[in-house]
Amino acid sequence: MSDSSLRLVWIYPDLLSTYGDQGNALVVERRARQRRLNVTRIDVRSDQPVPTSGDIYLIGGGEDRPQRLAAERLRRDGGLQRAVDNGAIVFSVCAGYQILGHEFVNDLGRPEPGLGLLDVHSTRGEGARCVGDVLADIDERLNLPPLTGFENHQGVTHLGPTARPFAKVRFGRGNGTGDGTEGAWNDTVFGTYMHGPVMARNPQIADLLIKLALDVNALPPVDETWYEALRDERIAAATAAT
Ligand code: GLN
Repeated sequence: MSDSSLRLVWIYPDLLSTYGDQGNALVVERRARQRRLNVTRIDVRSDQPVPTSGDIYLIGGGEDRPQRLAAERLRRDGGLQRAVDNGAIVFSVCAGYQILGHEFVNDLGRPEPGLGLLDVHSTRGEGARCVGDVLADIDERLNLPPLTGFENHQGVTHLGPTARPFAKVRFGRGNGTGDGTEGAWNDTVFGTYMHGPVMARNPQIADLLIKLALDVNALPPVDETWYEALRDERIAAATAAT
């Protein structure tokens, strides 16, 4: 962590914030402040350089054209790649997740290079768009409660050997490959198809990012009553929909 303040960088709210993605930034800020940590939030528009000194980077979902523009600008900028080289934590959602991989199919139907920060590549699904509630069990190494979310994507994401599945779906499609995997992660870079925004439903993910950034194993507990009620409600909804 730089100085005594956690630096939270939200990448490209002008292009990749179609699905209430600001919610994830708000939840990380709140969960940090509840632990009396100072947080500096930096919103980086797509015409601005990506700072390399952040601790946690968030990158959200978007429609196909803004996704291509975001990929082009991030590749050209290079700041996010340098930040990861410096040990930064990155959490990405849907279009952002695809951008962090090696390649995805853009709005023109062509392969678009990603940043190669996750060992995944995305193709365009031939079947129906993946839309709906999801319930998934997060990789047990991350020690997190079940993940609830909402997915909305056409892309199908294939994991390479150095990417681990972030979760395994109980309901929903996740990566869309039919193997039940959802999202991907390596040591410090995470990707998921979950909108929601995902951290409003699963704030323990925000805690995970904060712990990684601080290099600590635990944070002081906070009141989880509201989140637990929401999780129960969403699990019931996902179960009823199947
Ligand atoms: N355009 C991408 C897809 O459909 C990402 C969509 C999204 O971010 N929800 O796969």
